Amino acid sequence: MSPVEWPEVPSKRTRDEAVASDRDDQLRVEVNGRAPPPLWSPAQRRLGPPPESQRPGTNNHQIPPLQFPARHDSLVPPHSPRSAKNGDAALTPVQLARTLEQDVNPATRPFSPSTTTRKELYAIVSQVGEGTFGKVYKARNTVTNVHVALKRIRMEAERDGFPVTAMREIKLLQSLRHQNIVRLYEMMVSNGSVHMVFEYMDHDLTGVLSQTQFSFSEANLKSLCSQMLAGLAYLHHKGVIHRDIKGSNILINNRGELKLGDFGLARFYHKRRRADYTNRVITLWYRPPELLFGATVYGPEVDMWSAGCIMLELYTKKPIFQGNDEIHQLDVIYRIIGTPTAERWAGVTELPWYELVKPKDAIPDHFRELFQKWLSPAALDLAEQLLAYDPARRVTALQALEAPYFKDEPPSPELPVGLSTLEGEWHELETKRERAKKRRKLETGM
Ligand code: ADP
Ligand code: MG
Repeated sequence: MSPVEWPEVPSKRTRDEAVASDRDDQLRVEVNGRAPPPLWSPAQRRLGPPPESQRPGTNNHQIPPLQFPARHDSLVPPHSPRSAKNGDAALTPVQLARTLEQDVNPATRPFSPSTTTRKELYAIVSQVGEGTFGKVYKARNTVTNVHVALKRIRMEAERDGFPVTAMREIKLLQSLRHQNIVRLYEMMVSNGSVHMVFEYMDHDLTGVLSQTQFSFSEANLKSLCSQMLAGLAYLHHKGVIHRDIKGSNILINNRGELKLGDFGLARFYHKRRRADYTNRVITLWYRPPELLFGATVYGPEVDMWSAGCIMLELYTKKPIFQGNDEIHQLDVIYRIIGTPTAERWAGVTELPWYELVKPKDAIPDHFRELFQKWLSPAALDLAEQLLAYDPARRVTALQALEAPYFKDEPPSPELPVGLSTLEGEWHELETKRERAKKRRKLETGM
C-alpha cells in the first residue's frame, strides 16, 4: 500500500435521488398509500395543522416520540446567526407535535419522563459532523449531563416540506433496537428545526483510523469486525438493507462498542420477492460490483461487500478500492481481485450495463498476495468471501459470524477499551479539517 495521502471519499449521490428513484418507496406505502405527509408542506406551515382526519399521525403512521421544551435556545450554536423570523416561520413545536404520535415507552428515554414541566436543555458542546442533510452536534443534557448527538434536519432547502429521506431514517431507526445499531432516543423541535437525538458516540471509524496515537490489537480488530457483522446480521434479519456502509457511518465509543449509524439510505427489502431498487446508492469506494454493473434487483449482499471493504480497511487503515468514477472503480477492483469470469459470477453478462463496463482484458486475482502481509489466513478467507463477485455466493452476515476467523483462529475478539485513553474524539469531520490544514500549510509553504 502506498504511504502517501489517499484522496477523500468522493461524495455519494444525493439521497433524494436515491429515494426518488426507488420504485416502491416504503414511506408511500406506509402512509396509507398516500404521498408523503401533507402536513410538512410549506403551505401547511403557514396555515397551521390540518383537520384531525388528515393528519398522518392519526393514521397508522408511526413516528417517534416528539419532545420539546418551551424553547431550546441553548440548541443554537454560539456562532450561528439565528434569525428569529426564521424560527417562527417554520412549523411550531405544537403544530409538529399534533401531527406526530406520542412517545412509546418512557423508560427507554434517556431523561426524566415528566411531561409538561420538562426543562431539559441541550447545550451544544461542538460540531461533530457535517452531512448531506445538516449538521451533527455533540450536546450535553444540562440536567443529566448525559451527552447526545443532535442531528439537525435541514429544512431551508426543502421545497416540499419535511424531507422524505429524514422521515425514512426516523421510521427505520424507530423499528430497530440492537447493541450494534445507534440508538435514536427521541425527536426534538427547536426554533422550528427538527432534530434527531442520538446516543453519543465518541468516534467514527474514519476518524479513529486516521489518528496515530492509538492502534488496535489483532483481538480489537476482530472484535470490531464481529460487532459490525452482528449489526448487519440484525439489520438483514429485520429486512433492512443499510446501503451506505462506510467508515464515517460506523460509530465507535470509548467503551470499544461499535454501532452502525446513518440510516439515510437504508430501506426495507422484500425477503422473498426481489424488488427493483435504485443502484445509485453506497458511496463509490464501498459499492459492490453488481451495482456498478447496473443491477436494480439486489439484496442485503450489497452491504456485505461494503463490510468486506471495511474489514480490509481496518487492517490497512486505508480504503482499498479508491475509484474516481464508476468505470474506474471497477478497474481498481479488477486490479486487486481480478476480472469476473462466467465461472466466478454466472449472471454477470446479463446485468444491464455489462456491455458498457465489461473488462477489456482478463486480469488475474492478486488479492491474497496483496493482503497476506496484513491479514491472518482465516481473516483472508473471510475477507475474500465477503468480496465474492457473485452476490449469490457472497457470505451472509450470519455465516460470516460463524467463520473460522471468529470460531477457531486465535486471538479471541476483545473490545478496544483502550480507546478511552485516546486524546480527543475522532470523527470524519476532524479528519477532513486536519487534512485541509495540512494542505493549506503545504500550499503556503509554512
Ligand atoms: P450524514 O452522513 O447524512 O450527514 P451521519 O448520520 O452519517 O449523517 O452523521 C454525520 C457524521 O456525524 C458522522 O460521520 C459522525 O462522524 C457524526 N455522528 C453521527 N451520529 C453520531 C452520534 N450518534 N454520535 C457521535 N457522532 C455522530
Ligand atoms: Mg454519514
